[in-house]
Amino acid sequence: MVFVALVGVLGGLGLLGGKWVASMADAAVNRLGSITGDGQAAAPVEAEPEPEPDPEPDPDAVPALDTVLLKRYDLAAAAAAAQGIELSITSGARSINEQKAEFEEAVGIYGSAEEAAKWVATPETSAHVRGAALDVGPQAGWEWLGQHQSEYGLCLVYANEPWHFEALTEPGEACPPLKADARG
Ligand SMILES: [Zn+2]
Repeated sequence: MVFVALVGVLGGLGLLGGKWVASMADAAVNRLGSITGDGQAAAPVEAEPEPEPDPEPDPDAVPALDTVLLKRYDLAAAAAAAQGIELSITSGARSINEQKAEFEEAVGIYGSAEEAAKWVATPETSAHVRGAALDVGPQAGWEWLGQHQSEYGLCLVYANEPWHFEALTEPGEACPPLKADARG
């Protein structure tokens, strides 16, 4: 009887002891966890090197004019000259800041950014900023090129910009339909 009671007491102690040990172990693990957590943050980390971010484009850099566009223009200008028509580039590639200035000037003229956007593309949308558009002159020149756009693969893009050409198709192919204005 005494023996049974003793076993019971020892068992109880053992159980308590087990719980106590377990809770101490939990605490130790928790402490260890926080230590290793801090340790990891402080330790030198051999991570993959951060990929270099794309360098910000220089807003004053004027891109090179697209060589295909230029080659086609040269062919067209020579053909125009042979017919006594003067053709010249009035505006080709533009820097971001040049396009921005053009847009802001248009805002001044048309009274709002929304109205200006019908006439002048923003730096984000302008093909001039990609070196992919040409404005030509004088009027007789752009009218001639407009009539021969498909022949040279130099396409009019906007109905309200009869001087603006982009190399949108192969020479001899039909140019796509005009967009109403610079908003596309
Ligand atoms: Zn243009």
